[in-house]
Amino acid sequence: MSATDSQRPPAQSYGAASMEKIVSLCKRRGFVFQSSEIYGGLNGLWDYGPLGVELKRNVKNYWWRVMVHERDDVVGMDGSILMNRAVWKASGHEDTFSDPMVDCRTCKSRLRADQVIDKGRGKQCPNCGGKDLTEARAFNLMFKTYVGATEDESSVTYLRPETAQAIFVQFKNVLDVSRKKLPFGIAQIGKAFRNEINPRNFTFRSREFEQMELEYFCRPVEGIKLLEYWKEQRLKFYENIGLSREKLHVLNVPDGDRAFYSKGTYDIEYEFPFGRQELEGVAYRTDYDLAQHQKASGKSLEYFDEETKQKFIPHVIEPSAGVDRTVLALICEAYSEDQAPDEKGKMETRTVLRFHPRVAPVKCAVFPLLKNKEPLVAKAREVVDLLRPHMFVFYDESGAIGRRYRRQDEIGTPFGITVDFETLGEKDAVLKDTVTLRERDSMKQERVAIKDLPDLLRSRIS
Ligand code: ATP
Repeated sequence: MSATDSQRPPAQSYGAASMEKIVSLCKRRGFVFQSSEIYGGLNGLWDYGPLGVELKRNVKNYWWRVMVHERDDVVGMDGSILMNRAVWKASGHEDTFSDPMVDCRTCKSRLRADQVIDKGRGKQCPNCGGKDLTEARAFNLMFKTYVGATEDESSVTYLRPETAQAIFVQFKNVLDVSRKKLPFGIAQIGKAFRNEINPRNFTFRSREFEQMELEYFCRPVEGIKLLEYWKEQRLKFYENIGLSREKLHVLNVPDGDRAFYSKGTYDIEYEFPFGRQELEGVAYRTDYDLAQHQKASGKSLEYFDEETKQKFIPHVIEPSAGVDRTVLALICEAYSEDQAPDEKGKMETRTVLRFHPRVAPVKCAVFPLLKNKEPLVAKAREVVDLLRPHMFVFYDESGAIGRRYRRQDEIGTPFGITVDFETLGEKDAVLKDTVTLRERDSMKQERVAIKDLPDLLRSRIS
């Protein structure tokens, strides 16, 4: 735990966030916009704005760092979104990747069968209370498309509903080039698409989203132990990006609710303002996927164990996380309101996103005290140039300094640097080339030499 980790007050001490406030802040400050908004939007699709894209990138980079770069036993890959239809036949997605769907004949809404309510007096539509519902029928969640100029059955394929299958079908190639021995993993981050019947809860259930998936291949005897290991690793990951342990829960998915081939699955859940919901699934998928692809393709996907001279299909543990759900959890966790003095010392409500510095979109804001004093502006620009190679820095010279701090608090920038007359050495020669460094959560200020800033800030944000 870094110094900044231990200094951070526990998240639950701040006021709970409401979804309305979060959605409004996300739009107002450029985290998330409705896709195609000027045309009325498209349900279940979202665009990330200038700050959202930084937050998302920080989450993905940190995942890649701990899951790939900091390990000897994991390599990465980046598969195509469109794949041969045979992949989806063999994986079972074409036949079974569906949700049961029910139509309400009264209000014409289309519902996932698990949304239908039953208060003991028969099934009811959650929207209008109507009881005239159709029987449940399977609705395949994959988006169908055509490859090439002819639109017929022979050219059908699907936008991938998960990134995992690209890893399974490239297992042999990656094994050959990486020369890894079991246990080892292949990691991938990429877009996935599901034609969700009822997208809802902001970005939580979208029709286009990103996944961060690891397929960790092992010997069958290691499977159960590694399932536990990865569950713990993944919980640590969420804590390390700032989600509080109290809001994270592990659901041990019961036998009847797991895929038939899974020997154990944990859902890592987070307490969103709209309820406790899945962030990530950690599943022991046995040898199901590789065996299916070996059977359907006729190509061996076996592993040769040099020690025992045996050939076998490895088992796999899959920690599968959603980028968008993680980003949403981070925003929900970070959102808080407190009381802080304004320019005249009057207390006002301050909205703060208390992001962990590791994921904060902007790491540091630099302000010249006054914008019409050239030496202050020049010095502030120098500080920006000094820091830019190390982190994402934002320069702001407009408005009163207090207001500039508030704007940064609202987007979660952990550090603010002010260049003032003392920096120029006008008041006290000892303070020449020092700046005020302000910390977002405590609002405490310290005087720091400009030359020490890169190391100091780097140690607090890494
Ligand atoms: P759910 O039960 O919520 O539909 P799932 O169990 O089908 O999720 P998986 O197939 O295990 O989800 O996918 C792995 C991860 O991908 C999920 O834990 C989630 O973070 C993310 N994910 C899945 N579907 C969506 C979606 N529609 N929108 C955003 N993220 C999603």
